Amino acid sequence: MKALVCGAGGFIGSHMVKRLIREGYWVRGVDLKYPEFSPSEASDFIQGDLRNQQLCDQVFHLDGEPIHYDEVYQFAADMGGAGYIFTGENDANVMHNSALINLNMVERCVQHGVGKVFYSSSACIYPARNQVDPNNPLCSEDTAYPADPDSEYGWEKLFSERLYGAFLRNYGLNVRTARFHNIFGPEGTWEGGKEKAPAALCRKVIQSARAGEIEVWGSGKQTRSFLYIDECIEGVRRLMNSDVTEVINIGSEEMISINGLAELISEMSGKGISIKNIPGPEGVMGRNSDNRLIQELLSWQPSEPLRAGIERTYAWIEQQVAAATAAAV
Ligand code: NAD
Repeated sequence: MKALVCGAGGFIGSHMVKRLIREGYWVRGVDLKYPEFSPSEASDFIQGDLRNQQLCDQVFHLDGEPIHYDEVYQFAADMGGAGYIFTGENDANVMHNSALINLNMVERCVQHGVGKVFYSSSACIYPARNQVDPNNPLCSEDTAYPADPDSEYGWEKLFSERLYGAFLRNYGLNVRTARFHNIFGPEGTWEGGKEKAPAALCRKVIQSARAGEIEVWGSGKQTRSFLYIDECIEGVRRLMNSDVTEVINIGSEEMISINGLAELISEMSGKGISIKNIPGPEGVMGRNSDNRLIQELLSWQPSEPLRAGIERTYAWIEQQVAAATAAAV
């Protein structure tokens, strides 16, 4: 089996490469960059820009001959955490870059008769009006319309969901689409402005002195759920192995406030850290995965407690911080 992983230098893509290799696939990775934290395990890796038509053509050839992919995983996107998506400063790039990648890829997948293609959408497509109450967000798949995402990132994801859906209907492209809800874990970005809440909070706690204070954006009352990377990959593989062409959530239903997450990490560290809420991008007030559809269609849903994944992530970020500190001395 041959697979192409777009975004193979990123967090989820690099984990998917490892999983597919373990399952015996020949895997080609493509990304602007190589994975940051460990060498790619891909059988073949092309460093290049998927906005570029020629590069996309190159990706579908090997030694001058067209290559047939049984599966394509499309994870490449211009994205980051709240500090990247909700400030407004990156809106044009986020929309333009990710839409171009998807326009190029969906066309190539049809031209080259790809067996199946996975598209990674996001919980950010859900309407802002259903995510006002932190204790009662509504994110079942059928509530996506009338559309009103709270970010341009969400609008691009919705456009691309529809793009892949249209290619499925008009060209018979065998598409699987999932809406990811806050995926986290080792080898995810942990500093630099594109990191998400779990990694940012782990880093802040690790870098804080005993009985110190960390800053948390917004009121801290906004709720989210977070899914550990291994369960995300498991969900995608199950979806790819199924006949399910409906767009489904892949996320955890264990909802927690952002302050609650900070407290969990503080408690885990044993440092007795206190929280200071400061103005900052916070997104919608409540969001949680709704797993009724995935359970019904795949007879499976993520089940690992948040704490277990946070423990592993905390330990990994602790190593990164120690290595960065040692390198700076
Ligand atoms: P990531 O930023 O780590 O990975 C995306 C990769 O795409 C990066 O390595 C980046 O270099 C690459 N890329 C960007 N522009 C490119 C281009 N023009 N050509 C080639 N490569 C390019 O993000 P991730 O967390 O691994 O997310 C993977 C996918 O899942 C993305 O589409 C993202 O929107 C989606 N998603 C992620 C989450 C999450 O919580 N991580 C949640 C919802 C949706």
